[in-house]
Amino acid sequence: MIIQKSANPRISNFDLENFSFGNTFIDHMFICEYEDGKWGEPKIMPYGPIGFSPAMMGVNYGQACFEGMKAYKDENDDVFLFRPEKNFSRINKSTSRLAMPEIPKDIFMEGLKTLIDLDRDWIPKGEGMSLYIRPVIFATEEVLKARISNKYMFAIVATPAKSYYAEPVSVKISDHYSRAANGGVGFAKAAGNYAASFYPTKLANEEGFEQVIWTDDIAHEYFEESGTMNVFVRINDTIYTPKTSDKILDGVTRDSFIKLAEKRGIEVVIGDVRVKDVVEAFDNGTLKEVWGVGTAVVTSVFKSLGYQDRLLTLPVLSDEESFALSLKKDLTDIQTNKAEDPFGWRF
Ligand code: PMP
Repeated sequence: MIIQKSANPRISNFDLENFSFGNTFIDHMFICEYEDGKWGEPKIMPYGPIGFSPAMMGVNYGQACFEGMKAYKDENDDVFLFRPEKNFSRINKSTSRLAMPEIPKDIFMEGLKTLIDLDRDWIPKGEGMSLYIRPVIFATEEVLKARISNKYMFAIVATPAKSYYAEPVSVKISDHYSRAANGGVGFAKAAGNYAASFYPTKLANEEGFEQVIWTDDIAHEYFEESGTMNVFVRINDTIYTPKTSDKILDGVTRDSFIKLAEKRGIEVVIGDVRVKDVVEAFDNGTLKEVWGVGTAVVTSVFKSLGYQDRLLTLPVLSDEESFALSLKKDLTDIQTNKAEDPFGWRF
């Protein structure tokens, strides 16, 4: 691997206690290019723009996908990734569906470890603080033909992320738009999935909802995901989550929540989550909680669900009563090395 260190590191002028998320990047980035059927030499270099033509295939035909993961620093300044192998295998599920080359494991893992180690000073410390890491791969060939590209770039960039108290949000159960279809690309972290979700989300925002609960594209009968998160529903003391499929992203947080809930002895049902059953549970008083999970916010608690012309207002639970918040704590304690790691998730 070529390592070209920055001559002007910005970290000394960066306030790790007071920053806004997502727009300042660590001093270095990792890149590796693919051409003529093979990967080139991996490289770490100072973070910055790279020139491309507007004719590049990634922006015209959308061969682009990514991952989202975090690094955490504990009190002793030790740095941990959380289940990075899951992100590695998922990015290759995405590349495979988009007819892009597979990223070799050593390129992904060595790139990740070397970059994060080099810029470990950028990882903020403390409750809920982390470094958000974005591996991304996109087609770079310049040709205006709708076919598989012959050239790609795989890159890793990262940005400090801080803890923020995620206010409970109001979400709209979609009865018109969908984010995924059978046989489609919903399970992939394809860039286009996000582009396609913005318009329905904007409409929901205009109606006063923060997010959309995506439902199936056939009759909008079943819950699929929520915003860019997997979704959980608690009826009485049982939790339900849709099973993963070619429409649903196999979230690392979702999988971890299922295992942590089972460890607590909570019954978890993985299968169809019918909108009708959720509304019925609300009406008979057994709907306790609905929440989304994902790497970025860990847990987003929903205070109300908009469904057609109704607004279902959920009960307000204490942190201890809430399964969503108890499981969130179990998870973040493991991620930040505050608790035993019985599953071997810290890396
Ligand atoms: N669904 C979608 C569509 C997402 O973009 C994400 C974020 N990666 C998730 C679910 C949650 O996945 P994870 O827990 O791996 O972050």
